Amino acid sequence: MSNNIQNSEDIRDVLILGSGPAGLAAALYTARADLSPLVLTGMTLHGQASTTDMIENYPGFPDGIGGTELGSLFQAQAERFGAKIIMDQATSVDLQKPPFVVKTYSNSYKAKSIIITTGADSKKLNVPGEKLFTGRGVSYCGTCDGWFFKEKDIAVVGGGDSALEEGLFLTRFAKSVTVIHRRDQLRASAILQNRAFSNPKMNFIWDSVVTEILGEDAVEGVIIRNVNTNEEKLMPTDGVFIFIGHKPNSEMFAGQLALDKDGYIVVDELMKTSVPGVFAAGEIADPHFRQVVTSAGMGAAAAIQATRYLENLEND
Ligand code: NAP
Repeated sequence: MSNNIQNSEDIRDVLILGSGPAGLAAALYTARADLSPLVLTGMTLHGQASTTDMIENYPGFPDGIGGTELGSLFQAQAERFGAKIIMDQATSVDLQKPPFVVKTYSNSYKAKSIIITTGADSKKLNVPGEKLFTGRGVSYCGTCDGWFFKEKDIAVVGGGDSALEEGLFLTRFAKSVTVIHRRDQLRASAILQNRAFSNPKMNFIWDSVVTEILGEDAVEGVIIRNVNTNEEKLMPTDGVFIFIGHKPNSEMFAGQLALDKDGYIVVDELMKTSVPGVFAAGEIADPHFRQVVTSAGMGAAAAIQATRYLENLEND
């Protein structure tokens, strides 16, 4: 990891925003193309995947691998070939024309090409009590906060892979995990559903949404509304883990790059954005698959394409 301050007049070949699987795969490929990529990590070093306890579907690891460990391996491999990873966060970009300019809290960088892999963040329920109790019973990361809920009762909101995977993880600590889902059918994959249904610590409340999170100093309960009957009831709980999907981190690019209606950066099959020389990969540009393996693949593709773009610039 480097904290070298760059000379703001330096013009890099490639600047990579984000350090998840897409960003570090792009770093590996551009480093191996001798382009000395610089990676600005963003707030979450190694991205969302690093907060996953166990990744069981990344090829090459038949027994699974911890998210933190996989992130460190991605980084070590990229650094081995000369990628520089800097703990910094882009705060604004100017993509009008090359060299593109990226400002951070402490610096300013210029680059001939940019690969954006800024990922996505957890969506919020936006109900009373959620913000107030975040960090005091409300959480968006089982791996990070599960430890604090030993022998406690936990509510998990959502019905997708994240809700079940994290809910199952939380059963290691909790006395009970109650999944509250707004429909009567889960969205999660069959394998996770089977595991969840056969786990004696897991319970399910169907057709219901959380309308309020209550407590004094920390979470003590939630108000649940049945969406069919509108009946509301209080459910005592010590924690609320919310896994209802993600929002792409693309605010910085609005007005400069084409975004879709949900805010994802629009890319073509070559990972090109609407601005030549600017590429995007991983969850920032992928509302469909959002897997570690697909993000890494997109990162590699973006890097190959950035390399070709730079070669063409030189030849012109
Ligand atoms: P997701 O698949 O979009 O599921 C979000 C869940 O939250 C859905 O069940 C949705 O209900 C519910 N929801 C959304 N907004 C809500 C609201 N305002 N109030 C209450 N419930 C709400 O998100 P995800 O589970 O985070 O998964 C994201 C992607 O990552 C998926 O492609 C998933 O396959 C992948 N992933 C894979 C793994 C794995 O393979 N092991 C693990 C984690 C994630 P509805 O079902 O009614 O829409």
